[in-house]
Amino acid sequence: MMATMMIEFQNVTREFQGPTGKVAALTDVSFAVEPGEFVAVVGPSGCGKSTLLLTAGALLTPSSGTVMLDGSDVYGRSGAVRRHLRAKKVGFVFQQFHLLPYLTVYENILAPSVALPSPDAPKRATELVERFGLADRAQHVPAQLSTGEKQRTALARALLNRPLLLLADEPTGNLDPENGQTVLQALVEFAQAGGAVLMVTHEQGATEMTHRTLRLVNGRLQDP
Ligand code: ADP
Repeated sequence: MMATMMIEFQNVTREFQGPTGKVAALTDVSFAVEPGEFVAVVGPSGCGKSTLLLTAGALLTPSSGTVMLDGSDVYGRSGAVRRHLRAKKVGFVFQQFHLLPYLTVYENILAPSVALPSPDAPKRATELVERFGLADRAQHVPAQLSTGEKQRTALARALLNRPLLLLADEPTGNLDPENGQTVLQALVEFAQAGGAVLMVTHEQGATEMTHRTLRLVNGRLQDP
């Protein structure tokens, strides 16, 4: 039997209404990422990278086509089921971190347990604080952190609910090389443990750590 793909796009098209008519952000995009795979997504600005990540993350409904997440048809389900799938199976890491400014590092890491309550979430959050070297920053709020600490907090938060798929949008874009390496290494380890990673990046060094690269041009996937 074939292994279930972690994420699979089948002929996905997404159009947006622009001022002068429809704009196709993605056109007939098909690909799959297996458990254990770390895949980069590259392409010029406006080629559809963000649209692809949001669609993969159960956040943006395609105009046509199917998105399968760990064997479930994401957009064929009700909104409530889709939110549950997202909370349980997907973690997000962004270039701009998107930490909640009034919560501490520990509280930010624990935040995804609101969408998916679990009795072991506080223990898991404490483990992640330790793992990412944040123990002496756990009670700080984001304004009191370095950019590297902010991204390590965001990464820990993305891992809280033990997702199967990590979606990363330029996760090293604002970081110095050392912190960038820490983040990439964590993504590599996540894939080695059987997860799947889709990472938008412009950085040559980052694509060298991945198994393969998807190239988007004008919303279309180029042949590998
Ligand atoms: P990238 O992340 O590669 O820079 P995007 O996925 O953000 O590209 O955008 C792809 C195309 O879709 C662009 O031409 C953009 O202007 C258009 N687009 C994206 N989001 C919207 C939206 N909400 N409304 C209208 N057009 C959009």
